[in-house]
Amino acid sequence: MRNLARMTAVANVVVVVIGLVALVLLPRSTGEERSPVRAQPRSPSPTPSVAPPKATAASARKVKANEAGLVPVIMYHRILPKRLASIDRTPAQLRKELERLAKDGYVPITAAELVAGKIDIPPGAHPVVLTFDDGHPGHFALDQSGRPKKDTAVGIIYEVAAKYPSFRPAATFWVTRAPFGLRDRERQKQAVKWLVDHGFEVANHTYSHPDLRRLSDKRVSEQIVRQERLLKKAGAPPSTTFALPYGSQPRKLSRAHDGTWDGTRYHFDAVFLAGAQPTVSPYAKSFPRYAIPRIQSNGKSGDCRRWCTTYWLDWLDKHPRERYTSDGDPARVSVPRKLRATLSPARAKSVIAY
Ligand SMILES: [Zn+2]
Repeated sequence: MRNLARMTAVANVVVVVIGLVALVLLPRSTGEERSPVRAQPRSPSPTPSVAPPKATAASARKVKANEAGLVPVIMYHRILPKRLASIDRTPAQLRKELERLAKDGYVPITAAELVAGKIDIPPGAHPVVLTFDDGHPGHFALDQSGRPKKDTAVGIIYEVAAKYPSFRPAATFWVTRAPFGLRDRERQKQAVKWLVDHGFEVANHTYSHPDLRRLSDKRVSEQIVRQERLLKKAGAPPSTTFALPYGSQPRKLSRAHDGTWDGTRYHFDAVFLAGAQPTVSPYAKSFPRYAIPRIQSNGKSGDCRRWCTTYWLDWLDKHPRERYTSDGDPARVSVPRKLRATLSPARAKSVIAY
């Protein structure tokens, strides 16, 4: 894993550059979608009224639980019927990838849940974080009956959840000043309310998507506060997570998660990059809270030879002991004995080492 860690910086820079180029080259899409989804949306995993099962060393060993393992945080940009750039995905590509995740035993959680260590998934399951950047209309739109439109990201997530009941509909949307392409305040409110009510996360991705490295400290904070104010007016709860535009870090790193502008303070619990590997568990000592890597959804050619989802999901399938596998008990952290020392001391009381 040392090589992986060393690779992060390089890979993230590559992704930053690709992102910058893509943004310059691409026209805005019209974001028109048609026809409603078939599956009736259901609520995210119902909170069980009974207490969750208590894991034991025996039960953890049985499912080979490893809650110090790697978690893929997948990064999506536009979902378009016809891709205009390599980082775009079609509805069919998204559907196929989500079905693969469901078949591989992954259960979606939000970025906020990951960071808070609230990973409440069945024993033997693996968490995955689905993240959608820039608030594109292809991510979420409601049809006339108030349901997510077919072939939007949310429509597809519900379709896959209907087909694979273990696949919990959950995702994170990091948006800018026109969430889901909407400029009208009332429609923004309607969209945000629907998503938040259904267990999705809508959070800050700056107001106008600048490269933060090129801005003064003050301008960095302005970008974040303006967006936080917009999100508040749209009815979103205060953001606890933040995704850097292009994965580009401000010169003063802490400005990405703590600062003040125009009398408004902000604080985020975590900051996400734009590349290029799975993250270590939030329970690990080495969890990079303010520089959490993500994996671009893509095939295996060119720059994606080893930094995108096809490569990494194959890799995780081939290295099951490196992957985060749940013990099914959100109150305890279960790991093989030899990984005990990699856990954060803050978790010491709730650890099961088998
Ligand atoms: Zn972005």
